[in-house]
Amino acid sequence: MDHFPIFLRVHGRRIVLSGGGEAALAKLRLLMKTAGHITVFAKTPAAEIDAWAEDGKLTLVRRAMQPGDTLCAALFYAADEDATEDARTAAIARADGALVNVVDNLHDSQFITPAIVDRDPVTIAIGTEGAAPVLARALKADLEERLPAALGPLARIGKRFRKAAEALPFGRARRDFWREYYFKAGPSAITAGEDQVNRALDTLLEDHLTRKARPGHVHFVGGGPGDPDLLTMKARRVLDEADVVIYDRLISNPILELARREAIMIDAGKEGFGPSMQQEEINDLIVAHAKDGAQVVRLKSGDATVFGRLDEEIDAVDAHEIAWSIVPGITSASAAVAEIGQSLTKRGRNSSVRFLTGHDTRGFADHDWSALARPGEVAAIYMGKKSARFIQGRLIMHGADRHTPVTVIENASRPDQRILETTLDALPQALAAAEMSGPALTFYGLAPREAAAARLRRADTEHALYTYPIPAQEAL
Ligand code: SAH
Repeated sequence: MDHFPIFLRVHGRRIVLSGGGEAALAKLRLLMKTAGHITVFAKTPAAEIDAWAEDGKLTLVRRAMQPGDTLCAALFYAADEDATEDARTAAIARADGALVNVVDNLHDSQFITPAIVDRDPVTIAIGTEGAAPVLARALKADLEERLPAALGPLARIGKRFRKAAEALPFGRARRDFWREYYFKAGPSAITAGEDQVNRALDTLLEDHLTRKARPGHVHFVGGGPGDPDLLTMKARRVLDEADVVIYDRLISNPILELARREAIMIDAGKEGFGPSMQQEEINDLIVAHAKDGAQVVRLKSGDATVFGRLDEEIDAVDAHEIAWSIVPGITSASAAVAEIGQSLTKRGRNSSVRFLTGHDTRGFADHDWSALARPGEVAAIYMGKKSARFIQGRLIMHGADRHTPVTVIENASRPDQRILETTLDALPQALAAAEMSGPALTFYGLAPREAAAARLRRADTEHALYTYPIPAQEAL
């Protein structure tokens, strides 16, 4: 962040602008929304500026700016659209102690003006540090459309009620009250006028004061494979409402960003075979926060019900009679199979699919190898990297065809996704050569569909398709 966003109080302060053309007009339209005192220096101002001066909306001085003209000014805009004149006026303003913006000149500006969504007193400022003005405008248009026009009046009325609302205990109770006001009671009352909104606020407060404190609750949420677009809308909502988020190692940053800013974020990262927070410790944390009345989100990768040690946590929560629910997520097998353009089941090939784990608490996990070794079988193997050689050995021992396709998808759905296409025979060597360090899902019995493989080969290097042995013309 080269530019730190703040909201500057300009009430009653001087804002000076030099210039009288298009650039000046655009800035002035914005500045006139503020409670600042605007002074414009322009030898030949546009007619609009003249009219605004006559209406008393700004002070117009019909000459070029001189040293001392920006004394005590909070902000100065150089808007002459002339590099030499802008440099001259900017130097004066800087010497006078004002913060300087040279229009369309990021390099010589001390501050920049964001794109603004104005629902005064609710103001949203969007900045891209000059990198993508188009993006800022698109975001602004999107927000303009989404935010109700009444948001401003609702916020203004709400602000006057803040003192009264302090009758509610600080924290969750008060937050619940305001959420209900802004998203339910307020919007439905505003069409009938301000009095009606005031009455709605009184009723709502009365209701919340007599309400029993909301008890703690635990949502076991599947965070999906990593791409925030693969999060369910319900997962987004509960994340947005959480007081405490306890998350696993595989949860990606863009998903954590979706949590409420005030939420307590706890990293319960568990690394296979490595150092980790003990399961009991995690259980205790969940229980302690929920008993405290918090809305807890226990965020797990993929789907919480797949190799997620979910039952141990549910048992712990149940033992304390804490309410809980499960929010399903997209398991990594679903995300990974989509990336290779295949189905998990297919008529005539396999009428069942197995989700296996490569290892469990006792080490490498045993399975019904002879059933899996039959032609056409498909298995999604989780945590299968370290156990690849063991799985290969067991399957071949039980008669599996050495040429059975095997595909390993690392970091499925993430920007650093990689796909390794190989066979049962070559699996351990191919894995070693690919040096995968991210989470990887192994499909036994599936190769990328040819069309998907071709697309992946063409795609950028971050999505490189690895084959083993790597054909010379495709060496990466
Ligand atoms: N509950 C999770 C699985 C947790 S076990 C789910 O439903 O997906 C952790 C294993 O999941 C990892 O070792 C890896 O095999 C797999 N995994 C998780 N995220 C993945 C991803 N983005 N790409 C590939 N595999 C992933």
